[in-house]
Amino acid sequence: VLDAYGSEVSLSISAGALALSDDEIETWVRRSVLAVTTYYGHSPAAHVVLELQPVRGTQMGNGREAAQRGPPTIRIEVGSDVGSRQVRDDWVLVHEMVHLATPSLPAEQLWFEEGIATYVEPIARVQCNSLSMTDVLQEWVESMPEGEPRPGDRGLDHTHTWGRTYWGGALFCLSADVAIHDRTKNRYGLQDALRAVQEKLGGGTSNRSIDEVIAIGDAAVGVAVLREMYDQQAREPTEIDLPALWSRLGIVGRGKTLHVDGSAPLASALKAIFEARPPRGVTKPLPL
Ligand SMILES: [Zn+2]
Repeated sequence: VLDAYGSEVSLSISAGALALSDDEIETWVRRSVLAVTTYYGHSPAAHVVLELQPVRGTQMGNGREAAQRGPPTIRIEVGSDVGSRQVRDDWVLVHEMVHLATPSLPAEQLWFEEGIATYVEPIARVQCNSLSMTDVLQEWVESMPEGEPRPGDRGLDHTHTWGRTYWGGALFCLSADVAIHDRTKNRYGLQDALRAVQEKLGGGTSNRSIDEVIAIGDAAVGVAVLREMYDQQAREPTEIDLPALWSRLGIVGRGKTLHVDGSAPLASALKAIFEARPPRGVTKPLPL
């Protein structure tokens, strides 16, 4: 049992060889909890069961999160050859822990659960200095187009393809985050909405409706961005003009040439999205 920033993690490793040492595994778990705790201002869950399954290979993969009975449980397959460098760059455990901090929604809104996990995971890692903002922006420019509707799309609630579920959900979160920052002059962002949802509705062990989540999220930031966007995008395909969005945020180029133009109209929103902010009422930053 590991105490990580207010989360008690019961760690078990099934039989099998791992290149990672116990210390490296512990550091990985702590760093992942810290990322989610930094973003939410709360530990993702008071008690988490983490089961690691060694498998052959060099991949960290197949994360799963379940919370039917007892404490929430995360199962992850860890490649026997995964080394210290790879584990430092791992996103799988952070992704699963973001799920723990978000209520469970009906199957129609799986895109929102996966979208939040896909969107929040890298931002949380930037906020605790485990990843650079440029890395995230490069990934967004490459992958966000996967979230756009394809011909025949019937809106996010009714089109359950991989692209629409993960990247469509993430694109929804990014658009909402930018709109909240824009309309509140950077006073609030999606982070504040998600913090309020976790505080008031609980995490992955509570089953909630999308309307409850939207009402709490919108109330926390004082603008009805989630309501408006959901009503528009849940039942109808809605294309986001990504080149225009990147340009308003000041994201120029792609891959190795990507850089941020600080004079763009929404450059301050982009900066605010990635800035670590202490939870309300806390003035000292969390220890690294
Ligand atoms: Zn997921």
